[in-house]
Amino acid sequence: ARKKLNRLKKTQAVTLDGVEINLLANIELPQDAVAALEAGANGVGLFRSEFLFMGRTGQELQLPTEDEQFSAYKEAVLAMKGRTVTIRTLDVGADKPMDASEHNILNPAMGLRAIRYCLKEPQIFLTQLRAILRASAFGHVHILIPMIAHAFEIDQSLAMIAQAKAELTAEDKKFDANILVGAMIEVPAAALSLPMFVKKLDFLSIGTNDLIQYTLAIDRADHEVAHLYSDTHPAILQLLHMTVSAAEKAAIPVAICGGMAGDVRLTRLLIGMGFRELSMPAALLPEVKQEILNTRIESLQPLVKKILRCYDPAVIQDTLTQLASAGK
Ligand code: PEP
Ligand code: MG
Repeated sequence: ARKKLNRLKKTQAVTLDGVEINLLANIELPQDAVAALEAGANGVGLFRSEFLFMGRTGQELQLPTEDEQFSAYKEAVLAMKGRTVTIRTLDVGADKPMDASEHNILNPAMGLRAIRYCLKEPQIFLTQLRAILRASAFGHVHILIPMIAHAFEIDQSLAMIAQAKAELTAEDKKFDANILVGAMIEVPAAALSLPMFVKKLDFLSIGTNDLIQYTLAIDRADHEVAHLYSDTHPAILQLLHMTVSAAEKAAIPVAICGGMAGDVRLTRLLIGMGFRELSMPAALLPEVKQEILNTRIESLQPLVKKILRCYDPAVIQDTLTQLASAGK
């Protein structure tokens, strides 16, 4: 079994009809890059940088310095040996609180989290952007902005990136001047107004965990409503389909980095919809790759189209089962 897994690790994820799927890993700390490579990831599709900021002790908020962040990002970049590392900027708040004070917030998931927090704390944001840019001199880095909903959030983020670049240039510090910048589609408003974003961005990445939370209005951390958390709700499937279509039209890449990307029961549906990049926890990569190797995208089309036209949950489930058991 070990030998088979090793062979699988070196095999590229290509469907039977020759479509290449880019399989990437999600990481939380730089050390996780080792497991990502071990599992055969083509790169890191989501580095959740907030884990460097969380769980730091003391009463006062203690943030990692620019140099600390730089070392952490650089470690991940070097470990991936030239493969892309997509570093998501600080996504704190809600289910990832930075300190205890956040427990008093009325509605944290809808509060000051992710890019909203960063734009309110430009010094923290700038420090992180400088650290990411400095790490980009050591490999292939992309910047990913979480939780966008408004055009000005992209404009302001790009302005901050430009400012960080100008500072580093003045200080004679190296960085990748052509670094690509993308945004996470995880607020329904963003998925419903993609033309507002695609021209300003180099790529998109869908955060299905939050997209489901906000679309279905169920707190992803609240067990009382966990039974309502449905990734195959027609609203979710429509939003995914809209996003992949808009990205195709704008000729920019789109990935999925939320939980749906690593769910092997959904692999055929997602690649049938047109997704070519999936980022997931490293441990799930072999299973998803195996499914891709056993799939012919062309022959999935009728069932995928049926699911996308369907608003009956029972029929969607039934068709998904057919999709999973369909031959090659
Ligand atoms: C998501 O929302 O799907 C996502 C990938 O981001 P996180 O789970 O870190 O919020
Ligand atoms: Mg998210």
